[in-house]
Parts: sequence; structure tokens; C-alpha cells
Amino acid sequence: MTSVDEVLELKIESIGFEGKAISRLDGYVIFVAGGIPGDTVRAKIIKRKRDYAEAKVLDVLSPSPHRVQPVCRYFGVCGGCKWQHLDYHEQASSKRRHVIDALERTAGLNLEVNETAASDQIYEYRNKLEFTFSENPFKILENDPVKVALGFHSPGRYDKTIDIARCHLGDERMNRVLNWFRDVIALESEKRRDLGITIYDPQSHSGLLRFLTVRKSFSSDEYMVNLVILKEDEAIEQLATSLKRDLPFVSTFASIINSSRAQIASGAVWRVHFGNGYITEKIGKYSFKISPLSFFQTNTVQAERLYEAALSGVGGKKKVIYDFYSGTGSISIYLSELADEIYGFELADSSIKDAGENARLNNVRNVRFVKTDIAELFKGRDIIGNFKLLNLPKPDVIVLDPPRSGLHPKIAANVHLLQAEKLVYVSCNPMTQARDVKEIVANGYTPVSSQPVDMFPQTYHIENVLTLVRS
Ligand code: SAH
Repeated sequence: MTSVDEVLELKIESIGFEGKAISRLDGYVIFVAGGIPGDTVRAKIIKRKRDYAEAKVLDVLSPSPHRVQPVCRYFGVCGGCKWQHLDYHEQASSKRRHVIDALERTAGLNLEVNETAASDQIYEYRNKLEFTFSENPFKILENDPVKVALGFHSPGRYDKTIDIARCHLGDERMNRVLNWFRDVIALESEKRRDLGITIYDPQSHSGLLRFLTVRKSFSSDEYMVNLVILKEDEAIEQLATSLKRDLPFVSTFASIINSSRAQIASGAVWRVHFGNGYITEKIGKYSFKISPLSFFQTNTVQAERLYEAALSGVGGKKKVIYDFYSGTGSISIYLSELADEIYGFELADSSIKDAGENARLNNVRNVRFVKTDIAELFKGRDIIGNFKLLNLPKPDVIVLDPPRSGLHPKIAANVHLLQAEKLVYVSCNPMTQARDVKEIVANGYTPVSSQPVDMFPQTYHIENVLTLVRS
């Protein structure tokens, strides 16, 4: 019907999972990169499969009323904000439609889904930005003279980094930090020459600077800068002195050592160069201490909406709540007034430690964190027995907030054995949530509410809080 390189005029009907715009040609699905619902575009087919094709927009012949001018000059190149060309109202309703579609198609559920809890701030909402140092920049134009980069990975080319001068998801100060470090690595920079600064090269596993992380607290206006480096180096101490002098709003600066080959902005040890080594952020009335390696929801304002949705899912005072995948304890702490006892279950040591500190910081005494692999608890012949060994009271409500991949299949299949009256499933991936909910429903639970919360404006990501009751 179509062939690769063919140029077609297409009407975009909808926008589906992973933010792909969809057009249909006699029922045959074409995913059109760069299109939005309501557009008529001229697009070129770049891939053709039996069930679908992929195309990219050459020109927009007649724009959708929802089309807006992207604010970012890296739009279309950077993989970060794929929906900047879609007006925010339409972003929020498309995200809600994803949740509805996932529940309908994957779980066969026809559930009333609330309007998306939209974000008031649609740019500059992130409390954390993470940039990669690289000597292998992505050239936006062929004759681009850029030689070194500090920015984001280019989508599909993970070896290359786009040099970013401004990211609109962070505020002006976060961008000043970014540009301060871009100046440091510039080839003609005096600092670079004087200090002998080198950039990490994954191929040869040498060079000093790997990642830059900038975090801010919306409630206290503190800024934390972290450099992920290959090994200790006295150049960092000197950089710290100039950073403190040049950008006095930076309240603390720490380096994190990652001496492994794994290209992750994390490491085993960190060292504070100035300040106290953490920032404090608030969600609602609770404070959280964020250290260089701590996980924290990246959209502070919307995190409160998310936790409020979980709170209303729990729906009133309970005796015992289990919080599966409790991370640094923020949900457990946020729900602490709703129950006599709360137990957070979490695998990562560092998160367990942070969670305990956060509970103390907030004077919350009815929360306990259990270090365990939840999947292991749901394995074997005697799941109830596994839980009995923990010596905990039975849960009235279980909150589940798994990673994007969703629940381990054994958890989805067996969580009903704990006989909680309610399950509150907080998800950042409606597809895996729908898959898991199907299983949970088959074992005797009924979904009663679904509340999408938008934590990531300008992207297709959506969180959904789904509450189920035992029938
Ligand atoms: N509820 C937290 C975020 C959780 S992120 C918040 O709102 O801040 C998911 C967490 O699940 C991570 O902390 C991860 O370490 C943990 N995790 C992943 N697999 C796990 C497992 N099998 N058992 C226990 N915890 C797990």
C-alpha cells in the first residue's frame, strides 16, 4: 500500500502511547513523528511493517487548532519534551485518554477516569536536571563547530550528547549553573587549561567529568550542585572555590565518585566541598532531606497532588497501611496521619536510610521501613507464611508505587492473598498498570476510581492513581 520514502498527505487523528501521532490509511496505522491531532501534513514514510508504518512530517499543510509554537530551540532534536507543539490543555486531555485506552484495551475495564490533575506550572517545574559531559557532541547542523558538550543524550544516539544552553524545564538559576560548567569545559577556557580538566570518555574509560546534577528546593530556595566524576581529583576542590564565588546562590556542592563503566549519574561515595551536602524540600507540611544520591519526585508541586490522590484513594482513617516500593518514604510519611501504623517496603539500602531520616525529621513515629525484595515475598508456596515471618499486623490498605515496569507478575497475581480491603496503585506507566490491574481484578477487586496526575508537562508521561476495593 505504501512504501518507504513515499510522500503522502495525511490527516492526524489521535496521539497514542509514547506520544506517537496516529494517522490511518484505509485502516492501516501510520505513526507520524511531529504530527498532532487535527493536523493535515505532508509526511514521508520511513519504515514499513505489516501492521503499521512510521512516517515523519515534512510540512504541515493545515495546522491543528491545538498546535502551538515550541518554546525550546532544541525541540525535535532533544528527546526530552516531545509535546511542546501541543497546547497544554490538549496535553492533559490526551494523557487522560491514554489512561482510559489502557484500562479499556489492556484490562477490559470501563471505568470513569477523572480529569487529569493538570500542572499550573508547565515550564520550569523540575527540581532536578541532569546533564552529561561529553567530547562526542551531537551536531545539530552538519557544519556545527561544537567540540564538547554538556547536555542531554540525543534520542536514538546514546553515544552522542546535545550541547544545551538552556533547558526550559529548569529555572534560570539551574541554567546558570549549567552554563557555568559549559564555560569550564569550553576548549579555550582558562579554568580548563589551568586545572587540567578532562571529560570522561566511555570508550577508553578515562577523563574526569561525567555528569552534572543540579537540584533545587522550591520551598527553601536552596540549590545543590553535584558533579559525578571518575575519581577524586584536586581540580574539583578548586572548581568548588570558583563556583562558590561566581554563583553564591548555590548552597551546597558535592562530588560523587563513579569509577565504574556504567554511564549513570550516581555512585557509591560522595564528598561535600561546601555547604551541608543536602537540600530540604517540602511536600505539603512534610519536609524531606535530599542528599546527592537520594531519589525524590522531580516535580515538587505536582508530587503533592499525586500524594493527595493517594490519600483520597485510602479514603479515611485505617489501622494498618502497607506502602510497597516506598523509596525514600515520602508516601508513607504523607499518609502517616491516616493510619495507626504504616509499613514501607523497599529494596534499596540508601532509600531505607533516607526514609528513616525523613520520618525522624518530621517527627512521624508510626511509620516503619522494612528492607526487603517485595517480589521475593510473593514467591514460593506459602506467601502468607513469608509475610508472617515479618511479624507485622495485617494491612487494611496497600499502596503500590512500582517502577515503570510495573508489578512483578507474582505480586500482581498474589497481592489479593493479603486480603486488604483496598489497594491504591500509584503508577507512572498506564500500560503496565492496566496489565497488573487486569490480574488484580480477576482475583476479586473492583476498581472504583482513577485519577491521572500530570507530573511532566511537555512530555507524554502521565501518572495515574487507581483505587480498587475488595468485592
Ligand atoms: N514511592 C516513592 C517512589 C518509589 S520509586 C515516592 O513516591 O517517592 C520505586 C521504588 O521501588 C524504588 O525506590 C526502588 O528501589 C524500589 N523497588 C524496585 N523493585 C523493588 C523490589 N523488588 N522490592 C522492593 N523495592 C523495590
